[in-house]
Amino acid sequence: MTSAKDDRDDKVEWVAYSSAGYGSAEDDLWDDVVPIESKEKEIDWYDDNILDDDTVVQWDAPPCPAPLGIAHLVRIGCCDHCLHRLAGVKTESTGFDGGSQLRKTALENNSDLITDQKKAECPTCENLLEDVGNVSKIILDACDGLDFSTVQIGVHIPKDLMEEEDRIRSKYGAPGSLPLKSTFVDETQQIIREGNEKINFVKEKPDLMVLIDTLTLRVDVDVRPVFFYGRYTKTTREIPQTRWPCRSCRGRSGGCEACNSTGLQYIDSVQDLIGRPFVDAMQASDTAFHGMGREDIDVRCLGSGRPFVLEVKSPVTRKPDLAAMESEIETQSKGQISVNSLRSSDRKEVARIKQTRSEKTYTIRFKVEETADEDHVRSSIMALTSEVIEQQTPTRVSHRRADKIRKRKITAIQNLLIEGDEIELSLRCEAGTYIKELVHSDDGRTKPSVSSVLGTACEVLWLDVEDVHSD
Ligand SMILES: [Zn+2]
Ligand SMILES: [Zn+2]
Repeated sequence: MTSAKDDRDDKVEWVAYSSAGYGSAEDDLWDDVVPIESKEKEIDWYDDNILDDDTVVQWDAPPCPAPLGIAHLVRIGCCDHCLHRLAGVKTESTGFDGGSQLRKTALENNSDLITDQKKAECPTCENLLEDVGNVSKIILDACDGLDFSTVQIGVHIPKDLMEEEDRIRSKYGAPGSLPLKSTFVDETQQIIREGNEKINFVKEKPDLMVLIDTLTLRVDVDVRPVFFYGRYTKTTREIPQTRWPCRSCRGRSGGCEACNSTGLQYIDSVQDLIGRPFVDAMQASDTAFHGMGREDIDVRCLGSGRPFVLEVKSPVTRKPDLAAMESEIETQSKGQISVNSLRSSDRKEVARIKQTRSEKTYTIRFKVEETADEDHVRSSIMALTSEVIEQQTPTRVSHRRADKIRKRKITAIQNLLIEGDEIELSLRCEAGTYIKELVHSDDGRTKPSVSSVLGTACEVLWLDVEDVHSD
């Protein structure tokens, strides 16, 4: 639930960023992410001088690495760095130094070659490659103090520059010469690595996503969330699974009087009782909670507990002591929530948790309006074993669930206890069975029900999730 929303938020954020100044709002910035291993590409050497009828130049310029091609790039004002990357000629040094060598040779060999020294901007990078050092420093500063091991770099270059660069490179650049974008990323990564050799650049699932806007030299560092899997048990009937906004103010603008300015209907939730220790330990901004199904506030969750994935957002540190987290949760919740099987997880597991349809065992206690012969009660209830029941969407959830009829199987019934007008039993059912409705029938919406087979009204006293049969 929350994950889909978060993804959307992420996307909105990036898109908003991409459209700041240029580009369309539809741009997918992830398209911009440049593969990191592009450096060691073989250059195809040209041995012919291919003539070109470009009227802009004074002579026919063949593509590099032909000397005339290089001379042409010099003439149109390419910077040394671009000269080097487009020339396709191996030089002693690389980057600006390599280009400077090539320029020198070109000027020596072409006495009539005049370059417009006053030309301020390189046509193939608009002097962007001079900013690599700056950008790298901004990135290193932005990452300072953050705990991470992997980084992915995304770069946004204005479209007109990209097009112009591409035009010149495909016409005059040596075949296989590196595009501006990957050159920029390669150089940036190299300098960053010199500043912090522990940084690992990756193409997916980074700890940090660094986005560079080359127009404004703005650098955004997005700390990716960390995920943890675990199972929780809840031994109280007063705590909802996830945060529940205040009914009066809906949690807006700092809450209201009714909720003591908390914005919450219930101060505590399983989400926060588990999430808060993580937020504190990892100096994170917030959490999202993804449970394998949920129980009502007044339903306890026992046994080995309900599987969940906790998403910890924007953490400063990424590796909390999980044993310490388990005991901290126990302490802070005063024993009402306890967590086991904690381990690290990922976003993929959120989908798995959401999709898993596991059987559950419940214990329910209810009161009958009219008592009857105990043997009759026992046989009537036990006859529901292996039955497939039909449940129309319960009235209590009809405002948020489509109204339809679901078929659910009762796998087992056991531990049937009859005490006067109170009955207690354990049931194992297919995922998604509404247990309270199975007992009281929800005005006949569940068929058959315990109430219908006993022929009397049943009032549910309490319900426990005894176990979630999964993982
Ligand atoms: Zn340049
Ligand atoms: Zn309120």
